[in-house]
Amino acid sequence: MARSITSGPADNHSGSSSSSSRTEDVQKCPDHPLEEIKFFCPTHDSIGCVACHTLNHATCDKQYIPDMSANFKYSRDYKNMLDEFQATYSNTCMHVQEIDSCLKEVDKLSTSEINKLQQFKALIIAYLDQREKELLVEIKKRRDQDTAALEKLQTAAKALQSDLDKSQVNLKAHEANSNHLFIAAKRAQAMLNQLQTTLEVIKRQTQVRQYTLQKDPLVETLLKNKDGMGEIVSRPGNDKLYSL
Ligand SMILES: [Zn+2]
Ligand SMILES: [Zn+2]
Repeated sequence: MARSITSGPADNHSGSSSSSSRTEDVQKCPDHPLEEIKFFCPTHDSIGCVACHTLNHATCDKQYIPDMSANFKYSRDYKNMLDEFQATYSNTCMHVQEIDSCLKEVDKLSTSEINKLQQFKALIIAYLDQREKELLVEIKKRRDQDTAALEKLQTAAKALQSDLDKSQVNLKAHEANSNHLFIAAKRAQAMLNQLQTTLEVIKRQTQVRQYTLQKDPLVETLLKNKDGMGEIVSRPGNDKLYSL
């Protein structure tokens, strides 16, 4: 029954130029469409047709609307209701603005949090870049040191190769003269012993100095953590909004 009260002013508000047939529709009883709304029950604050009042308000006082509504337009009730509509309308307007500012804040918040995320990521990348640079320097330093050491060994080995080659050529050159060959062979033997010792020294040192990147266990743990960079959490008390 109460909905008849609210549907009346709302319909009038939406169309002051509404046709007479529409006005008649408004006056029909929603529960008994063939009957016009003619009675008001002050006890239940309810309007209805003759059928409504016979069925639901038989024992209530009832007022005949055409008799009691003549000066309704000038009544305090009507004025209060219009004031209340106006106040609720103003309140709604203010709230529309408030929702607008909430929408702006939603954008602002997301932009700010995206910036925070990207700055954090940039910080992590800058840290990793810096560590990568330092580790690269160390690896290159090791490579240069090891290359220099092995090149030194290589130079010594090539000199040894050359000395051995020359000695053999020298011995061959003295083969025609037994006396000379014997003396040359004795000298060559002493030199050969020395060259063999040098070769042993070179052989002992000929190996690759091994090293490896020992991965930081903290970073390895971080990579296994699915929430690694952080997570988005609601502020306390903010997680049950928007239930409309
Ligand atoms: Zn009715
Ligand atoms: Zn009643």
